[in-house]
Amino acid sequence: MTICEIIKKINEGSATAEQITREALVKIAQLNPTINAFVELFEEDALAQARAVDAKRARGEKLGALAGVPVGIKDNILYEGHKATCCSRMLANYEASYNACVVEKLLAADAVIIGRTNMDEFAMGSTNETSVFGPVKNPADTSRVPGGSSGGSAAAVAAGMVPLALGTDTGGSVRQPAGFCGVVGIKPGYGRISRYGVIAFASSADQIGILAQNVTDAAIALEVLAGKDVHDSTSLGAPVPSYADEFTPDLKGFKVGLPNGFLDGLNPAIKAHVEKAAEQLKTLGAEIIPVDVPFAKYSAPCYYIITSAEASSNLGRYDGIRYGFAAKNAQDLNTYYEDSRAPFGLEVKKRIIIGTYALTSERYEECFLKAMKVRELIRDDFKKAFEQVDVLLTPTSPTTALPLGKKDDNPLSLYLADLYTCQGNIGGLAGISVPFGKDENNLPIGLQFYGPILAEDKILNAAHHLEKLAK
Ligand code: GLN
Repeated sequence: MTICEIIKKINEGSATAEQITREALVKIAQLNPTINAFVELFEEDALAQARAVDAKRARGEKLGALAGVPVGIKDNILYEGHKATCCSRMLANYEASYNACVVEKLLAADAVIIGRTNMDEFAMGSTNETSVFGPVKNPADTSRVPGGSSGGSAAAVAAGMVPLALGTDTGGSVRQPAGFCGVVGIKPGYGRISRYGVIAFASSADQIGILAQNVTDAAIALEVLAGKDVHDSTSLGAPVPSYADEFTPDLKGFKVGLPNGFLDGLNPAIKAHVEKAAEQLKTLGAEIIPVDVPFAKYSAPCYYIITSAEASSNLGRYDGIRYGFAAKNAQDLNTYYEDSRAPFGLEVKKRIIIGTYALTSERYEECFLKAMKVRELIRDDFKKAFEQVDVLLTPTSPTTALPLGKKDDNPLSLYLADLYTCQGNIGGLAGISVPFGKDENNLPIGLQFYGPILAEDKILNAAHHLEKLAK
């Protein structure tokens, strides 16, 4: 069931939150041994929350906007009294001591948090294969990856285990798995959703995002989660619209930008779908306008320098003293340092080393500072583009879902595959991936709309129309 259907049933009394929760748990028990989307279920707490929602309805009280909706949360989002491990051995025993802002909001909206979902270790990756819990399988084809790092959340929604899952997106980790799995994934603009209680990867790029079966569901969830939070000084205070009520009947007067050069050398099936989408949007009245964003092509190198630098600083807290694994029996200080950091996986260590290197006094200017300057140029490009158009249309990824086990063949090309998505984090943009057709292997293709900060309403509206055209 979709979020809309569940809310309707709960409110009219044709289903109880407990029934829906139990159904989700049964479905997860059936499918998870294959898909591996959930790493832990919070069964008892979920049922207790569901019963509390049912009791609230029985008392005649008004229910929250996500009443009885089962939700999966990525394993880097804090839920008090529950484990949050970033799918890393480093945090194997870490239990959250407070709720993330989004968890508070979900519970206040009467949603039911079912469990935590699989992810790439510390959200670093694009295939979900760096998780200590093993890879997630793509429900569209179980020989393929679901994408990452929020692969568990995307697969959980795609497999119909839950209608809603939260992920985080630092360089595409909500939109890319959404594209690979054939679901909707929105990463709002930087600051739209509070990051309080999210385990940090790269603070200037991290954003919580939403995975759902359709655009209306994503819009409903965003309305619940967005807004100012006193615990996150980067969260934005602008009023939160009722996104799903603001969808327009057509796209007359709406300007969709197609960035020049973005389709050069692209996989032919994906390219054809972007072109088809542009043609079809025209039939709804949209105007398609080519735009220049010349510096955007440097987004991936810029992203990997800046986020690795931030990660090397953010992950410094896992020293066995403040957080993380503490080595026993080390004979001297250096051994203690080494042994305490040993639980980090290879990809995480790689990022910490790249980031530390980029921040050394010898390399700071030519690496980190230069990347920061390029970031400004990219931001400027997008700013100018959005003076001409309402949204941009791009592919979500240069490929569809990759086969499992391929990630190490060419790590650099995997990094470059983040090109279309990491632009959004480097630029602080709002981005959404919508399923639009399939490739020759019957794998879902995701297309992306970008909008400037606080233009979630526009990208949701465009995505809502594209989703209808895809049917
Ligand atoms: N694939 C990107 C990376 O490995 C994105 C990760 C993310 O968005 N969390 O860094």
